[in-house]
Amino acid sequence: MSNFPQVSEARQKSLQQSYEAVLSQVNLISSTPVRLVAVSKLKPASDIMALYNVGVRHFGENYVQELITKAQELPKDINWHFIGGLQSGKCKDLARDIEHLYAVETIDSFKKCKKLDTSRTSHGGSEINIYLQINTSGEEQKSGFALDDPELDQTVEYLKSEECKSLKLKGLMTIGSFTESTSEGDENLDFKKLVELKQRLQGTHGVELELSMGMSSDFIQAIKQGSSSVRVGTAIFGERPPRN
Ligand SMILES: *Cc1c(COP(=O)(O)O)cnc(C)c1O
Repeated sequence: MSNFPQVSEARQKSLQQSYEAVLSQVNLISSTPVRLVAVSKLKPASDIMALYNVGVRHFGENYVQELITKAQELPKDINWHFIGGLQSGKCKDLARDIEHLYAVETIDSFKKCKKLDTSRTSHGGSEINIYLQINTSGEEQKSGFALDDPELDQTVEYLKSEECKSLKLKGLMTIGSFTESTSEGDENLDFKKLVELKQRLQGTHGVELELSMGMSSDFIQAIKQGSSSVRVGTAIFGERPPRN
């Protein structure tokens, strides 16, 4: 018996089924490989184990302390994606305490980018993939670089430079607005803006960028518009409890 958290047989079966249902939808509409990241925030470590048991290795978490705790009690070959709002003061904790941090998807300032790089370099650990978060909808309550923020170009240049030792620029991330994700139109305009920005940045900086866009309510549309990584929580794990 391993010391990993145990999951009941019923829960194992139900999570496996919902994961496979989402995965088959993803595979049905994508012509190129799309990564499905299982967003497990506020769900118990035993739920993560259930999917781990059937081969899932990419999980997304939103809260630094919760991620650190889960990473300590779960298998070391899980690829963790930090997808929550990142405070500058927490960059150090992330860099130091999660050896297998696969990606930080919510870098929204040059300062945080540099802080994360410096801390990771001094503490050691695998290279971290970076997605720059973009506030495509321009909503005030959303984090992310504004579409025309010059600091965005500065951050891309830093990630490309020799100065940057422990981070790798992987792509752009956005959370579409509720209005766009529920509107009847053919296209999600927030996703469209992210695609256009990707093209501009690739042209200007000579980089290759992937796109992390799409959640439970809009991942199908996101894939149709070119997403390479979708972050799905509720459709796999069910409704989340309130955070206290
Ligand atoms: C919670 C969260 C998700 C998952 O949302 P669901 O609607 O439950 O699929 C995806 N991305 C981010 C950034 C999140 O915070």
